[in-house]
Amino acid sequence: MQDQLKSMEAEALARLDAVQDLAALEDWRTEYLGRRGRLAQIMRGLGALPAEERPAVGQVANQVKARLEAAYEERRVALEEEAKARAFRAEAVDVTLPGRPPALGRLHIATQNLREISSIFAQMGFEVYETPEVETDEMNFQLLNIPPHHPARDMWSTFYTDREGVVLRTHTSPGQIRLMRERYPAEIRAILPGKIYRYEQVSARYEYQLHQVEGLAVGRNIHMSDLKGVLVAFAQQMFQGTRRWRFRGSYFPFTEPSFEMDIECVLCGGGGCRVCKYSGWVEILGAGMVHPVVLQNGGYDPAAYSGFAFGMGNERIAMLKYAIDDIRYFFANDPRFLAQFG
Ligand SMILES: [Zn+2]
Repeated sequence: MQDQLKSMEAEALARLDAVQDLAALEDWRTEYLGRRGRLAQIMRGLGALPAEERPAVGQVANQVKARLEAAYEERRVALEEEAKARAFRAEAVDVTLPGRPPALGRLHIATQNLREISSIFAQMGFEVYETPEVETDEMNFQLLNIPPHHPARDMWSTFYTDREGVVLRTHTSPGQIRLMRERYPAEIRAILPGKIYRYEQVSARYEYQLHQVEGLAVGRNIHMSDLKGVLVAFAQQMFQGTRRWRFRGSYFPFTEPSFEMDIECVLCGGGGCRVCKYSGWVEILGAGMVHPVVLQNGGYDPAAYSGFAFGMGNERIAMLKYAIDDIRYFFANDPRFLAQFG
């Protein structure tokens, strides 16, 4: 019987080594140490032994039981630790992963560009002056030397409101009249940025709303050379001095003489392409000496005062600066476009 106990113990310990999880361990315990387990079965034979052999066999049986229980306990602790460690590994948070930064807002490219234009003119002493987007026909046209039925009105397709004689301004130029009337007889050096509206078929080149930057200088002894100097200084800073420019005679009702300023096409570098209509040049602004009639409408005597004015499209400048080929991107609110400028 002692041999039986010994071989059972050896078998049990060998099986215990192979136990890999707590469920298998519980099966093992039932099989060897349970009430109907192998040890209990052997012990039931104890009564059949001669009385003098029983104490010795009983002692061996108790030792075997104690060793098996100790081995069981040791294995249980080890398996529980292992299970815990596995769970920790599975649920672990990798604190070394970089975090997810929240998406930050930024200024719209149109606003950034407006601010850049403003800061360049600020260095030359130009203040920023803003005027209303809804104007009277008188301010938007007539006082700027564009009477009703003047053929020059064809240059501006206009949004008229329900109220007679009230329009969405088609350019920032009516601000010239407002500014002059407010400041007379002081000298003026200002830019007038803001939204303008045109009744246009929307396309890659035309939008019905845009930002324009008007410039106005009024004083004594202001000459065409001053205007050219200011515009060249602006273009050199805005385009980092990388482009050639040229002036080209033009016509506007509120300036005399008038001209337009072109810069070398950004897309083809002057070689000629679809955007510049194969000329190598793109117009960036219109300018001229303030027409005597406009000076007078602003309250300044054209015999004593002179002035210059210019106007440029903010989005157009941005398109040329960043080689953007479609003006509709500016108001389409597509983050993939807007996120490129920050
Ligand atoms: Zn070109």
